[in-house]
Amino acid sequence: MNNYFCDVLIIGGGLAGIYTALNINESKKIIIVTKESDSNSRLAQGGIAGEICVDEEVLAGHVEDTLIAGAGLNDIQAVKVLVKEAKENLERLIELGVPFDLNNEGKLAFTKEGGHRNRRILHAGGDQTGRKIMETLINHLKNRPNITLLKDYMMYDLMCNDNECFGAKFINKENKDVVVVAGATVIATGGIGGLYQASTNPRCATGDGIASAIRAQVEVQDLEFVQFHPTVFWVNNESSVRFLISEAVRGEGAFLLNRYYQRFMEKYDERLELAPRDVVSRAIVRELELTESDYVFIDARHLGKAFLEKRFPTIYAKCLESGYQMEKDLIPVSPVEHFGIGGIKIDLNGKTSTKNLYANGECASSGVHGANRLASNSLLECVVFGNRIAKSINNFNIINITNITDDQVKISKEEADYQSIKLDVQSIMSREVGIIRTEKGLKNAEIIVQNYYRNLVNNPRHLKDYYECLNVVTVSLAIIKAALTRKESIGCHYRED
Ligand SMILES: Cc1cc2nc3c(=O)[nH]c(=O)nc-3n(C[C@H](O)[C@H](O)[C@H](O)COP(=O)(O)OP(=O)(O)OC[C@H]3O[C@@H](n4cnc5c(N)ncnc54)[C@H](O)[C@@H]3O)c2cc1C
Repeated sequence: MNNYFCDVLIIGGGLAGIYTALNINESKKIIIVTKESDSNSRLAQGGIAGEICVDEEVLAGHVEDTLIAGAGLNDIQAVKVLVKEAKENLERLIELGVPFDLNNEGKLAFTKEGGHRNRRILHAGGDQTGRKIMETLINHLKNRPNITLLKDYMMYDLMCNDNECFGAKFINKENKDVVVVAGATVIATGGIGGLYQASTNPRCATGDGIASAIRAQVEVQDLEFVQFHPTVFWVNNESSVRFLISEAVRGEGAFLLNRYYQRFMEKYDERLELAPRDVVSRAIVRELELTESDYVFIDARHLGKAFLEKRFPTIYAKCLESGYQMEKDLIPVSPVEHFGIGGIKIDLNGKTSTKNLYANGECASSGVHGANRLASNSLLECVVFGNRIAKSINNFNIINITNITDDQVKISKEEADYQSIKLDVQSIMSREVGIIRTEKGLKNAEIIVQNYYRNLVNNPRHLKDYYECLNVVTVSLAIIKAALTRKESIGCHYRED
């Protein structure tokens, strides 16, 4: 087994991980480990929210919109930090060279998305915001000799003792091990789309950071809140990574039609197509039931070819690839899992309940999103809290650990069909722990998933597939339990009973 020693271990190479690393002093030795090259950050289309100003009234508007989307369950201090520190961090992204789109006057072009009262969303390359940000930041890693990138290793457990973290253990596809010992550890492992049959997330988003935190008894919170994106390109395949038709398309004036070509959002919410995502997702589910259909349509025809091609080059090309011309055709869409709101509980400096352990990005729960995330606030959360973690680590007296002892896991002889277990859990989660939930459905789900959990824990295997399956089951079970505990409907947790 290879052992590495460093000052800071960052688990995950999405925006949350890389931005944190770039803001840590160059005197610190950093190791970033990534499981796969895919990340949610690269896929982000719509943009990054933030008011680049100091006007109290304007900032209060962003705070208020975030609280409205989050149904008031947000941590108000965290929301204020998010909104106030947007300026500093967006300017830092610009300084690092992120090519945000400009308007005809050469000034930053802001767009609008559901739930935002102002045009306050920056985008890059039209709808390639995530890709452009990540390409720019990853380029900077080349000039940072203090940062080492270790690719294709999956973290399977944190190393914690007496509520203190001193690194993590990793395994690769060939089931080879690596241990990274660190003074400070940052979990930035992204989303939970892999817990569901269909999601906008890459399949490797299996909630590994959250699962490892649960195993190490690090506090987690708000797991019942899972956001479904209302307008995802429909394909006739239940289990798949699905392509997003960004909210920004509706922000620019596209609307929704049912199978009879009727607009229907006025029946559900006065904000129409730009109501918060949970509202639009539930309205679509209802409309699908009423019209006995699998999809509704997004109609962007009136926006015209020239505008659509320039403003949404990725979406336009992807639709074309599937045989749809956005200026001529209606695009079939349906809601699928998109964003895990809850996660590892962090304070305003990104610290978890365990000493020397931080979390950032989608796997973390700072409380900014409350019961539902406002569009484009998540990329902002990655940079604002990443910067705060970096500042905290920069002021942190890192103790160099040069020796470790590791408890050996007792390996069972029994191997299971981990792929089948994952598929079954994904199907249960999609059926019972989706947009609309009931106590009966959640309890049924709990019994089955609990059973898988027990069997896996009692029969450990030192295999990447085993750990990934265990993580899917662990986080699914935690979501089910949290959803059962919260009896009322609020934000994106909707209990029909
Ligand atoms: C299609 C799509 C569009 C979106 N559009 C927007 C948008 O317009 N605006 C917005 O604000 N948000 C958007 N989001 C949400 C946003 O992109 C994510 O919330 C954010 O990028 C999360 O960043 P992250 O760094 O936390 O996770 P990710 O970017 O997903 O990165 C996670 C990293 O962790 C690594 N990893 C995972 N598990 C392990 C493990 N066990 N060991 C080692 N490494 C591991 C992965 O390989 C990856 O490198 C979108 C999301 C999707 C999927």
